[in-house]
Amino acid sequence: NPVIGVLALQGGVAEHLAALERCGADARPVRRAEELAAVDGIVLPGGESTTMTRLLDTFELYEPLRERLAAGLPAYGSCAGMIMLAREVSDQAPERPAVRPLGALDVVVRRNAFGRQVDSFETDLDFAGVPDGPVHAVFIRAPWVEEVGPEVEVLAVADAPDSTERSPGVGRIVAVQQGSVLATSFHPELVGGDERVHRYFVQIVRARLDSAAHA
Ligand code: GLN
Repeated sequence: NPVIGVLALQGGVAEHLAALERCGADARPVRRAEELAAVDGIVLPGGESTTMTRLLDTFELYEPLRERLAAGLPAYGSCAGMIMLAREVSDQAPERPAVRPLGALDVVVRRNAFGRQVDSFETDLDFAGVPDGPVHAVFIRAPWVEEVGPEVEVLAVADAPDSTERSPGVGRIVAVQQGSVLATSFHPELVGGDERVHRYFVQIVRARLDSAAHA
């Protein structure tokens, strides 16, 4: 079974570990570089991307993680995890960025994008590649994807519930994939009894292992 780590510095770690186990992965928390070295894929959970940035430094994991991602480690980021995987975070002072994303996905993300009136909302989404109907999506102070590079596939879009002129409620990108890197603005790990998104990621990790074995 693939060994899949969950970055365990902060945020929704236990829920991802449980969901991955239910999909047949050997799921492990990752806090140290030695633990990172032993995984076939990694999940970056939701939480707070500024805090995650600081803790990656404190635990001396920022560079090792950035390097493994650059070398093609399969990764899945939910919410703050999506922000961490991005190439760029909009709305940051370039000279003092609070979030230092890891650059594994060629996207620009906007933090807390859905607006203050709707801190959180839930909706059902069609998710390309995930079978058997819509996925129930829980958004909590969620980012959306503002720009995608040419290699990035858009897997799901959501309508912002507080439609305003500045932020019309139309088709915001909330799930993307680039090669073996997957990200969602929402939290499938919080929906009990539906592991389809995690299963999709475990398949990505397995496919990567198979192609490495046959190379
Ligand atoms: N708003 C958080 C951030 O900017 C993300 C929230 C979440 O992960 N639920 O990092």
